[in-house]
Amino acid sequence: MILDDFIVINDNGLYCRYGDFYLDSKQPVEKAVISHAHGDHAVAGNKTAYCTEVTADLMLLRYGKTASKVFETYKFHEMFSMGEVKITLISAGHILGSAQVLMEYQGIKYLYTGDYKVQPDDTCEPIDWVQADVLITETTFANPATQHPDPVTEIKKLNNIKSNILLGAYALGKSQRLIKLISTWCPQKKILVHHKIMPINLVYEKHGFSPGKYKIYERKLMKQQDEFVYIVPPFTFDSYFKATGVKRLFASGWKNLQANENDTLYISDHVDWNDILQCVNFVKPKQVWTLHGDGTHLKEHFKDSIVVKLLK
Ligand SMILES: [Zn+2]
Ligand SMILES: [Zn+2]
Repeated sequence: MILDDFIVINDNGLYCRYGDFYLDSKQPVEKAVISHAHGDHAVAGNKTAYCTEVTADLMLLRYGKTASKVFETYKFHEMFSMGEVKITLISAGHILGSAQVLMEYQGIKYLYTGDYKVQPDDTCEPIDWVQADVLITETTFANPATQHPDPVTEIKKLNNIKSNILLGAYALGKSQRLIKLISTWCPQKKILVHHKIMPINLVYEKHGFSPGKYKIYERKLMKQQDEFVYIVPPFTFDSYFKATGVKRLFASGWKNLQANENDTLYISDHVDWNDILQCVNFVKPKQVWTLHGDGTHLKEHFKDSIVVKLLK
């Protein structure tokens, strides 16, 4: 029997009372299973963090000693127990080391997706599908009107820009994906990377996912026009708003930022509407529980076939 209260939301985040642990807790807790290292999913200061080795490395890089008292790391498909709940991490395809969390209790499987992506991305493990009775999915872009374009078409836009480019992107995940895409599809471009992004690249390389060919940024290089693409985190991007002699572009998965397609690359690391339907097709859940964003479109779409519950 599916337990309606298997995962509930309290002040610390998503809680499973049957195994006494949190999923991507919002506050430091005793036991946190962490899907991936993005700041809105991985907070510092837990007693024990359960995650992949890559996620632990990325959290240690960001938070240092305060990252977690203890890390227990697991490979994909390696089962472990939290009380009576059996847990398996399944690749989510979102960023390197990102995992879905499969939880089995009393013969019922609950699958928490975390953030996930279906589009191909050579800088992380591809998404892996498992069947479950309950699919707990993010719905950031769960709207039939949202369809993410092909990232290769987007990145090739850079080939039409002959001046140096300042490319804003989130440091973890997006930057590495962009380096790989530019190395592959715009090989004449010379990629320069902001110093805050460099250590993340090193974690990627340590785990066998080299993003591509790049150099650390040096001011003197960008003095010439030589098809440089300088990748910087959002904060630095905003502070360069007066930069001259460069084309400023921001890479984002948010449609509302795409108002002027000359100033953005529409590249998303999340699922769009069709991806979520594809996910439901593979996972074959009896129920879908939704998180982040808006689950109402899914509820409407599946009204006669699958129970959709909006976790709030
Ligand atoms: Zn994320
Ligand atoms: Zn997220």
